[in-house]
Amino acid sequence: MQPVFRFAPSPNGFLHLGHAYSALTNDALARTVGGRFLLRIEDIDPQRSKETFVAAIAQDLGWLGLRWEEPVLRQSRHMADYASALGRLRERGLAYRCFCSRGDTARRVAAFEAEGTPWPRDPDGAPLHAGPCATLSETEAQARAGEPHVWRLRMADAVSCCPALLDIGVWNPATGVVRRDAADPMAWGDVVVARRDVPTSYHLSVVVDDARQGITHVVRGADLEAATSVHRLLQALLDLPAPIYFHHRLLLDEDGRKLAKSKLSTPLRALREQGLTPRAVREQLGFPPGSPAMAP
Ligand code: GLU
Repeated sequence: MQPVFRFAPSPNGFLHLGHAYSALTNDALARTVGGRFLLRIEDIDPQRSKETFVAAIAQDLGWLGLRWEEPVLRQSRHMADYASALGRLRERGLAYRCFCSRGDTARRVAAFEAEGTPWPRDPDGAPLHAGPCATLSETEAQARAGEPHVWRLRMADAVSCCPALLDIGVWNPATGVVRRDAADPMAWGDVVVARRDVPTSYHLSVVVDDARQGITHVVRGADLEAATSVHRLLQALLDLPAPIYFHHRLLLDEDGRKLAKSKLSTPLRALREQGLTPRAVREQLGFPPGSPAMAP
């Protein structure tokens, strides 16, 4: 089976060097193993996604010398498929409506922490969700269905559905070895599987589309490594195949911070306007043109 890779940016802004590094890593690894390289536009957020950024993504990646297969999948065009995946979780009683606002959660956490005990956090540092909605009866939840709500996964129940499946294939591209690591989705608590405004979330749409597109190798930044546990769980619940994963290093600025407000976060197009060539960018990132060399 031919390997399939994807670069999956969200069109919420212009691409910067961190995105270039991720896209070039995918492309280089796809070439190394004789794989295909796809671009996917993750535009489920109706507020933040902009057509200007979609067009800019193609321009900037093209400028870097990258080529991908057409047509490019746009997640905003596939809401019905995500809704149906959500429906499958609901049918199994694994998703519930949550009416808590961000403010409700923040107040609950602040009141608890005022007593001196830290509230448990997820791997991204956000407070784990614990609210009354998980125990609302179906009739109560149904009666409030017209109010703004998200859908959350009943994490403990979900994990107990398929514990035997919950390991992640961690790919080491330097050696080709795939290690099996235990997934730890419980660390995320009752994650949101559908947002208020769309019948999906990043987690849900990413697993549906990785399966739809036959992605075999997910290569993305280390900031998404912990989320893989949730993805693996959703794949198991929805009977989707599991790709193998490589989470590459993040580019850090001189002070060791993740791209924040340094020249590394300057949009590629601004670098281009300053006269930087694609060759210079590729060399700086460890991918000289013409050689699919892999930067560690
Ligand atoms: N769309 C996500 C982002 O831009 C990446 C998703 C993924 O690679 O799984 O951060």
